[in-house]
Amino acid sequence: MSDTPARTPFRSGAITDPRLPVPDFPAQEQPFPGLAREMDPLPDHGETSYRGSGRLKGKRALITGGDSGIGAAAAIAFAREGADVAITYLPDEQPDADRVVAAIHADGRRAVAIPGDLRDEVFCKEMVESAVSQLGGLDILVNNAGRQQFCNRLEDLTTEDFDATMKTNIYAPFWVTRAALPHMEAGGSIIITSSVQAFSGSAHLFDYAQSKAANVAFAQSLAKQLAPRGIRVNAVCPGPYWTALQISGGQPTDKAQEHGASQPLGRPGQPVEIAPIYVLLASDEASYITGEYFGSVGGGEL
Ligand code: NAD
Ligand code: MG
Repeated sequence: MSDTPARTPFRSGAITDPRLPVPDFPAQEQPFPGLAREMDPLPDHGETSYRGSGRLKGKRALITGGDSGIGAAAAIAFAREGADVAITYLPDEQPDADRVVAAIHADGRRAVAIPGDLRDEVFCKEMVESAVSQLGGLDILVNNAGRQQFCNRLEDLTTEDFDATMKTNIYAPFWVTRAALPHMEAGGSIIITSSVQAFSGSAHLFDYAQSKAANVAFAQSLAKQLAPRGIRVNAVCPGPYWTALQISGGQPTDKAQEHGASQPLGRPGQPVEIAPIYVLLASDEASYITGEYFGSVGGGEL
């Protein structure tokens, strides 16, 4: 095989050569928050490619932003590992959420779908109460929803934009976790989706990068606070993944098209490829893992 893999159409399936498949990315843009089902190529959330082995049997999980991308891949993997799963998302994302719910049902697990805006403290609290009552408890919380809107010049970054990023990426995980904790017992696992941006912020992601640094600190601090209660807290720091976030204002169109191309592996990750980290951190197998952050950056550095 030559050193440079040919650009081939993306197809879902087991990936053995980590450089492959290299999808063709036509230029594309959607209004925020974007729909995964409108993307070309479709992101691989693991619908047909993730194989479970009972690692989360009987557990109950809540995943924010579970309609698409990394959250959808975690939701599908969790269900395939035997968990019942609640997902939250913005009302405009119902078509994506419906597909995740169908995938969870296809695995014979319970799916709970709760639309709403996580920038609203009251919604966060009520959403958690509703998820807990419909699931019959809570063992795993994944704070995954995130807002990324690029802005090239600090002078153009409005207070409203800055506030929306901080509300979504910092306040919501605080509000959701505070509401969830009274329902979690020893053995529980909390995961937060941070980013490679926490350690090396891009010029055009000023507000986002610092919010993602806060997500790492969230895990490191809360892990120490909750260790005496037997609840673990960890962060996941993805590099470039092919999700709606990137083509709905997260990157300029030309950058989104090349998302991941400069990584050593030469491509972005597909959401299913990060799901195993979430499964591990959620499972009892990770019983001595807390206060850590895990990268998946395609060979780049955290
Ligand atoms: P995504 O767009 O598929 O998922 C993000 C989700 O966040 C949306 O589906 C939406 O449901 C939710 N969300 C955003 N604002 C919300 C609000 N106000 N109220 C309720 N829900 C809201 O994209 P993704 O890439 O899977 O993003 C998941 C996480 O991964 C985010 O935290 C993101 O910062 C992080 N991340 C992504 C990448 C990447 O390259 N895709 C890289 C590093 C980190
Ligand atoms: Mg979405």
